Amino acid sequence: MHKLIIIGAGPAGMTAGVYAARKGLAPLVISEDIGGQANWTKNVENYMGFTDIGGSELMDRFKEHMDAQRLTYEARRVKAIRRGENGVGFVIQCDDGREYQTRALIIATGKRPRMLHVPGEAEFRGKGVSYCATCDAPLFRNADTAVIGGGNSGAQAAYDLLQLGADVHLITNENITADRALVEKISAHPKLKIYEKHQVRRIDGGAMVEGITIADTSGTGGTGGADSTGGVGGPDATAATEIRLPVAGVFVEIGLEPNSQILGDISQLNDDREIRVDCQCRTGIDGLFAAGDVTDVYGKQIIIAASEGAKAALAASEYLLYKA
Ligand SMILES: Cc1cc2nc3c(=O)[nH]c(=O)nc-3n(C[C@H](O)[C@H](O)[C@H](O)COP(=O)(O)OP(=O)(O)OC[C@H]3O[C@@H](n4cnc5c(N)ncnc54)[C@H](O)[C@@H]3O)c2cc1C
Repeated sequence: MHKLIIIGAGPAGMTAGVYAARKGLAPLVISEDIGGQANWTKNVENYMGFTDIGGSELMDRFKEHMDAQRLTYEARRVKAIRRGENGVGFVIQCDDGREYQTRALIIATGKRPRMLHVPGEAEFRGKGVSYCATCDAPLFRNADTAVIGGGNSGAQAAYDLLQLGADVHLITNENITADRALVEKISAHPKLKIYEKHQVRRIDGGAMVEGITIADTSGTGGTGGADSTGGVGGPDATAATEIRLPVAGVFVEIGLEPNSQILGDISQLNDDREIRVDCQCRTGIDGLFAAGDVTDVYGKQIIIAASEGAKAALAASEYLLYKA
């Protein structure tokens, strides 16, 4: 049985790993990737010690730090977690069937992009449907594109695509809510068309995305809630006229949701499905800690996630020393 397993190798998990290694706990880090969300941002200007650094470059530095502590890392996706026999420790079950046992566990699984849940979305993921404009916009230089989401992420994605010469249909089920300064930068652009109060119905194509169908919900008193198709838009949207836009790229920018589902009913979540933690990253379950964006901690930032990872490792170390 391991003393400590950390799930997730974003800023929180990697920092927890370094702190735990320095406490002699020889932690095992299990993660689908290294770097997490920070890899998706081009420039980080608010991580102390670096006035401006690429997100993935900063994560490379974190990885070097992990390697310097000789941390054991396994690239796997965790499917579920359950309590160990007689309530001792935890059993971690991976997608490939592999299981691990540990006395203490830190969950640092962060967040993932929220999906639209419309027909064609899952099918064309990676074939024209993207959840990361920072990563994928350069693939759509001068192309016809759609961006879904009227917040800052959507407006920023539209801006990036316009800079690359793309035609952009910016679609939101409500009104544009992005910061005024950002909206002013894009709204007069001749290659931008904004569709407020429009619901995405489906994405279609052959080998790759070829179009998106949307429906105008403005005249139907739509409230922006999910409808029966699971898409975004008002509940009366089914009565609205559909428009098909021929596009090669669809950028879904409608927010993020916590990767807390692996916990099942082991631990308490808040209304946003974030893991509730106290100021020592304790979840209320003996030996179970959580850190970073997957928790209800205030502020979803790299520096905060890293600090929370450090706290979780220190708290786990104390738990293993005195209570396990
Ligand atoms: C586009 C964008 C730009 C941003 N820009 C900035 C910025 O400029 N400055 C800033 O401070 N913050 C920024 N942030 C926020 C910052 O990236 C996050 O707050 C931070 O990455 C959170 O770290 P984390 O370790 O908690 O989670 P994450 O970074 O989400 O890492 C989670 C890790 O867990 C792994 N994982 C998840 N589920 C599983 C599973 N089931 N099994 C195995 N592994 C799993 C993931 O693969 C990943 O490695 C940005 C975020 C985004 C999306």
